[in-house]
Amino acid sequence: MGKAFDAIIVGARCAGAPTAMLLARQGHRVLLVDRATFPSDTVSTHVVHPPGVSALSRWGLLERLTKTGCPPIDRYAFDFGAFTISGAPGSGEAPVAYAPRRTILDKLLLDAAAEAGAQVREGFAVETLVTEGGRVIGIQGRAKGGAPVTERSQVVVGADGRSSFVAGAVRPEHYHEPPPLLASYYTYWSGLPMRGRFEIYIRPNRGFAAVPTHDGLTLVIAGWPYAEFKANKSDIEGSYLAALALAPAFVERVRGAKREARFAGAAMPNFFRKPYGPGWALVGDAGYNKDPITAQGISDAFRDAERCASALHEVLAGARPFDEAMGGYQRARDEHALPMYELTCQIATLKPPPPEVQKLLGSIHGNQRAMDAYAQMNAGTISPLEFFSPRNIAAMTATG
Ligand SMILES: Cc1cc2nc3c(=O)[nH]c(=O)nc-3n(C[C@H](O)[C@H](O)[C@H](O)COP(=O)(O)OP(=O)(O)OC[C@H]3O[C@@H](n4cnc5c(N)ncnc54)[C@H](O)[C@@H]3O)c2cc1C
Repeated sequence: MGKAFDAIIVGARCAGAPTAMLLARQGHRVLLVDRATFPSDTVSTHVVHPPGVSALSRWGLLERLTKTGCPPIDRYAFDFGAFTISGAPGSGEAPVAYAPRRTILDKLLLDAAAEAGAQVREGFAVETLVTEGGRVIGIQGRAKGGAPVTERSQVVVGADGRSSFVAGAVRPEHYHEPPPLLASYYTYWSGLPMRGRFEIYIRPNRGFAAVPTHDGLTLVIAGWPYAEFKANKSDIEGSYLAALALAPAFVERVRGAKREARFAGAAMPNFFRKPYGPGWALVGDAGYNKDPITAQGISDAFRDAERCASALHEVLAGARPFDEAMGGYQRARDEHALPMYELTCQIATLKPPPPEVQKLLGSIHGNQRAMDAYAQMNAGTISPLEFFSPRNIAAMTATG
């Protein structure tokens, strides 16, 4: 009654813009708001694994991305010191990854939501959730320096990142929540060619990675255990370069390159939140956050956006009750995400993999099909459950 919108989406980046776009494409009345204006940057590196690229392709947006000159990545190389496992991360339908600048990717997604018919308000901060009888029925917020504005909708979707305002207001249940494990910092280098490779270096208590992005730049990120977060904060550059020096051939390449930006980074919390309740839903980091060491956040946000928009479409079309549709969204999200989440939390400790995994990795080194499967697992193209299944291990080690 008197609801101007079917859905209000708070947050207009990797989770919010596609959710708004997909709902608007189904004919729903959507308001998409963000306190940021676009194009703008956010603290995040940029790897979009092949499953995320596949989503862009399904949405008809991949060509727009490739036309921006973003270099494709067709090889992931995991350097463990003693050996390197190098494989192709994708599948036939999505063979490559990309690492677009967020200034470009997020603007592209926002424009697609507007083109689909979503009403977009940039520079609009949500300050209050409007409730009635315990149910969320809208938002109150304002443009910078403007008067408060109230908007009503059937559902308010928090796509507002890991420190979600919406989640803070509705206080959902948290689960699978270890403490922060890692602190990581990145910057951009010119003159550090990658030739289509995403390089990952695993060393005792340190991990770092390099990936090509727009404008001929290479992003290099380095991480150390959360226990060192405070101590290293006073000398991020020194800690970063000391980590890179653990791979002499790589740091030699960096010595020939030029740093083009300041350092950015953070220590990330790990958690799942229940992603729905009366009149509200959560997508992307707002609902499920994890350490960036496996670079799953953007691809996860895309997958969440599709699942959440599809469940909300069923609700708005009167095909399924809210709790049933959104319970399905939560179950599908958790079932898909949990194996990679557990692997991510293990990798983010920067402790050596369990002995049986070390043995397996040593034995598949040189076996191209098995190395491709390892790259595909890290890309989220295949599940860790599939990679580590006894049947797959037997097949990989038999052909090795
Ligand atoms: C150091 C680092 C490296 C990373 N590297 C990768 C990587 O390589 N690959 C990868 O896939 N993922 C990576 N991630 C994770 C990735 O950045 C996130 O998973 C992704 O950005 C989640 O998108 P989102 O739309 O859920 O949230 P966000 O990108 O955080 O967007 C939330 C939006 O909500 C808006 N907002 C918040 N509150 C309000 C409010 N009250 N009113 C209006 N608007 C509001 C914000 O302005 C923001 O634009 C990395 C993260 C970090 C920190």
